[in-house]
Amino acid sequence: MPGRAASRFLRGIEQGKILGQRCPSCRKVYVPPRGACAACGVATDEEVQLGDKGTVTTFCVVNVPFYGQKIEIPYVSATILLDGADIGLMHLIQEVAATDVHMGMRVEAVWCDPADRKPTLESILHFRPTGEPDAPFDSYREYV
Ligand SMILES: [Zn+2]
Repeated sequence: MPGRAASRFLRGIEQGKILGQRCPSCRKVYVPPRGACAACGVATDEEVQLGDKGTVTTFCVVNVPFYGQKIEIPYVSATILLDGADIGLMHLIQEVAATDVHMGMRVEAVWCDPADRKPTLESILHFRPTGEPDAPFDSYREYV
């Protein structure tokens, strides 16, 4: 990510806010923002604050531990399409059995304690199911 968009995004995370940027041409909302639209090649500078809920589009169950890992295996790494965003964010899904994670599952961010927040995506500990009904496939099919 180019520096300015990335650092604004990470400063937002530190404050418990998820900031994306909207393309002035195709209106796609990028999160994390990349500073430019990959499709149109124009700079994105309109900032959009997103909620911290979204829908699981793709995921994989990971059974391989890696050095320094603090979470139990298997764990689930998913692409989460935040409400209002057009690009999925990669994060962990926890507080649910790996076998119960599925496409269309509604999830929300679990933030670390405000005092411990830093300008990194690790200030979001993981995502967990909201318990809402699954999102209809048509609402995210173009992002799968
Ligand atoms: Zn665009």
